[in-house]
Amino acid sequence: MTRLWPLAALAACIALPWLPGVPVFWITLLNTIGIAAIVVLGLVVLTGIGGMTSFGQASFLGFGAYATAILTVRYGWSPWLTLPVALAVAGVAAMLIGAVTLRLSGHYLALGTLAWSVSLYYVFANLDFFGRNDGISAIPPLSIAGYRLTDARAYFGVVAAGVIVAIVLTRNLLDSRVGRSIRALRGGAIAASSFGVDTPRARILAFVYAAMLAAFAGWLYAHMQRSVNPTPFGLNAGIEYLLMAVMGGAAHVWGALLGAGLVTIVNDRLQDILPRLIGAQGSFETIVFGAILVAVLQAAPEGLWPHLSRARPRARRIVNDAPPLPMRDMPAPGTAVLQVAGLRKTFGGLVAVNDIAFTVAAGEIVGLIGPNGAGKSTTFNLLTGVARPGAGQILFLAQSLVGLPARAVARLGVARSFQHVKLVASMSVIENVAIGAHLRGHAGALGAMLRLDRAEEARLFAEAARQLARVGLASFADRPATSLALGQQRVVEIARALCLDPVLLLLDEPAAGLRHHEKAALATLLRLLRHQGMTILLVEHDMDFVMNLTDRLVVMDFGTKLAEGTAATVRRDPAVIEAYLGAPA
Ligand code: ADP
Ligand code: MG
Repeated sequence: MTRLWPLAALAACIALPWLPGVPVFWITLLNTIGIAAIVVLGLVVLTGIGGMTSFGQASFLGFGAYATAILTVRYGWSPWLTLPVALAVAGVAAMLIGAVTLRLSGHYLALGTLAWSVSLYYVFANLDFFGRNDGISAIPPLSIAGYRLTDARAYFGVVAAGVIVAIVLTRNLLDSRVGRSIRALRGGAIAASSFGVDTPRARILAFVYAAMLAAFAGWLYAHMQRSVNPTPFGLNAGIEYLLMAVMGGAAHVWGALLGAGLVTIVNDRLQDILPRLIGAQGSFETIVFGAILVAVLQAAPEGLWPHLSRARPRARRIVNDAPPLPMRDMPAPGTAVLQVAGLRKTFGGLVAVNDIAFTVAAGEIVGLIGPNGAGKSTTFNLLTGVARPGAGQILFLAQSLVGLPARAVARLGVARSFQHVKLVASMSVIENVAIGAHLRGHAGALGAMLRLDRAEEARLFAEAARQLARVGLASFADRPATSLALGQQRVVEIARALCLDPVLLLLDEPAAGLRHHEKAALATLLRLLRHQGMTILLVEHDMDFVMNLTDRLVVMDFGTKLAEGTAATVRRDPAVIEAYLGAPA
């Protein structure tokens, strides 16, 4: 039931204008809300979920509105034909603007959006082409089969259909392979790129999608208002859309609708009441809105929606008989999988990794050990393209990894876990695991929006479920990832890595935080993987775990290699005993 009431509320809003005696004024207000909601849905993807704050969405409304205004008024196009043009104009503009501004991060990005939104406003307001401050009027109304949609009620039909389409497309997009890469941008970008996600591309995609939704809203606005001028596409409007997203709950599709509704209605009421109360004309509502925003951010930083809905994410249905994904061939046992020589990394004056050399052969479990700060995790980062070595060679199956970005290293078959767990907090365990299979799927954004990706998604999730069962966490599949104990989250990371179908598995302290029997189960799993031909490089502090499991050890201290060999030889090595192991066991 809890899942249904937002739908019921939406249905009620859509039914309202058709009831007899409903004032036109209300219907007009609903039209305004619907158009705003479409813009805010884009902001949900971009800001709430993708983590990129944009003050500039109103500019993209402007692109859509001016595109249709110019083509219909000056060139006599049918409004229906201008819609794809409006979307394309905004899409191309977003790609260009995005290519420049999306390199910025955090506050700088937000400032960047402020900058171009202000400049675009002046472009609209100062060029003859856009009709300067007067804008363009006498825009034709939409018409269906000769029937002109000039009254608010008829137009509402179009707006409502537009809102429904935007909701469906957005939900489809978010629940897909591309959607997971957008959802991983906030906080999980390093992990996602280590599984092949092209994170810059995911950012652009979210940006273009939001821009196109805004342009669609602008197109609707132009044919409702029948005239355009620069004011509704300026910075104030951009701030208001962001306010709607934040108030409603920026990370939630239903929050977009709630925010658009609340802000539009409150704004309308305040514009009416405040001047009478204060006894003077002016945009006093802006001041009140500022105060409301601060209050909401204090009391409900996630917005209002999460406080209204306690619905847990729906359990994902796994199609167990989905055809399994193709698997790579494992190299023959004994093949040199990893050959590292002269590897070096400095941070300022600190030599974190100093001329490290070692090899790992197919079907081996090699332990990389050493005290805290020895340079083990940095070595992992160098091997996986997360960081660039200052010098040295890394050969993976005779191919150099130096200079490759993380996603290219992943593509070759190198998967890893992180010492500091990197799971996407807003996603369930199984969705996080499915990110590991990113490279084994191909569906793009358009296919996802149109739901053409279901067969592939079924295969990816069947694989994720299989790997989750393999590490013993099947019963946690639908739990929010960060609700698990930290030790279990590390094991989720192993399942995610296995989803890549790796040749080489790099595990950074996988047993930390596990209980005794969980460690034993992990050791059994790693032995089984080795038996199946996988090659494993392992950083771990638990000496019993390491000594019993590994074929060979590489010992590091202060960035340099102290020793290399079997557990027995390393244990007897005087340098190792002195630096690390203490008295011989
Ligand atoms: P380990 O994993 O063996 O505990 P790390 O590889 O994490 O060691 O760290 C090795 C050394 O490099 C430490 O002294 C650490 O402080 C330093 N270090 C690691 N990453 C960075 C970084 N991004 N910037 C500066 N120093 C770093
Ligand atoms: Mg470490």
